[in-house]
Amino acid sequence: MKILIVGAGLYGAVLGRALAEAGHQVHFIEKRDHIAGNCCDFVNAHGIRVHRYGPHIFHTSNEKVISYVKRFAEWTPYRHRVRAQLENGIHVPLPVNRETLIHVPADRVIDVFYRPYTKKMWGLSIEELDPSILSRVPITPDAPDDYFPHDTFVGFPLGGYTQFVGEILRHKSISVALSAPYSYGQEEAFDFCFNAMPIDEYFDFQLGRLPYRSIRFHHFDVPAPRMSPFSVINFTHDGPMTRVTEWKNFPDHGEAQNFTSLTFEEPCADHENNYERYYPVKDRAGLNRTLYKSYQALTPSRMKFIGRTGLYAYLDMHQAISSALAVAEEFLTQN
Ligand SMILES: Cc1cc2nc3c(=O)[nH]c(=O)nc-3n(C[C@H](O)[C@H](O)[C@H](O)COP(=O)(O)OP(=O)(O)OC[C@H]3O[C@@H](n4cnc5c(N)ncnc54)[C@H](O)[C@@H]3O)c2cc1C
Repeated sequence: MKILIVGAGLYGAVLGRALAEAGHQVHFIEKRDHIAGNCCDFVNAHGIRVHRYGPHIFHTSNEKVISYVKRFAEWTPYRHRVRAQLENGIHVPLPVNRETLIHVPADRVIDVFYRPYTKKMWGLSIEELDPSILSRVPITPDAPDDYFPHDTFVGFPLGGYTQFVGEILRHKSISVALSAPYSYGQEEAFDFCFNAMPIDEYFDFQLGRLPYRSIRFHHFDVPAPRMSPFSVINFTHDGPMTRVTEWKNFPDHGEAQNFTSLTFEEPCADHENNYERYYPVKDRAGLNRTLYKSYQALTPSRMKFIGRTGLYAYLDMHQAISSALAVAEEFLTQN
């Protein structure tokens, strides 16, 4: 079959590779000028690797996903340790554990770590937020100094994520057109279309817009060897930035002698950032999910929506891979 995939992000790439290996011809159209979607990274003028859309830490315990990713890259192991900066400048571990509680009493934990973060990240007060988002950030005094303590595989692809996705796409039956946004009816020249574009955009927003949170990234190159020993520092103040990443503190991300590169993150609504859609907004009443389902019901018969904005779901990289492999398997049993 001739298959069109809209979007050359990780989800589409994994799916496209499986279809190509099964003998189908796969053509990608990608509106950005690069592959790898939001995992895209690059090496800057100081030789430091920067993740263009914020820090991406690959983490999983799924054996199928682990053996899949090892086919396309060597991986540098890493344990992610996040620090929060208190207003007095002291850095404490996150998730909150015993060491954190030495500096912040237990009855202040919500006000110090969650209340300002929730307001900045989601534009909502903690009381308005869907409680399941809060449960993703546990408060446990016994928490180890490790952000992903239960994952057996945490790391970075040697050579970066863009190269990793490039390897997945490197197959004789795959072609990729960059700077090629979807245009209406394009799928008609193909037998089937997998579509990672925002589902509401495909239907020209006829039922309304699905809201997303976005992030403005502020990159700085600083003429100093290092600003802190930590890769990611979350801010607890009520200013607009949520966190800063110091890239060279990740393994294999560059060793510039006299420069360090930092990225600060400022969350905002997607309409305040050129409709860069990062996080689907979960509302407590579930109205956004209902709207998504109404769009999904309109899907043409030879199309399937995929990926974060096609499914309107938060997907980490390992979940995107696992879901893409399952979709490919289902498609291949039927075709
Ligand atoms: C800020 C941020 C931080 C993250 N951190 C982590 C992390 O630490 N660990 C982790 O596991 N995951 C992380 N993720 C998730 C990770 O980015 C995704 O799991 C991964 O990129 C897979 O996404 P995807 O392929 O579904 O979508 P995307 O990466 O969004 O790819 C979709 C592609 O479709 C293209 N597209 C959209 N519309 C059109 C159109 N009209 N025409 C053509 N092309 C189109 C887009 O340009 C994009 O390239 C993070 C995500 C964000 C936003």
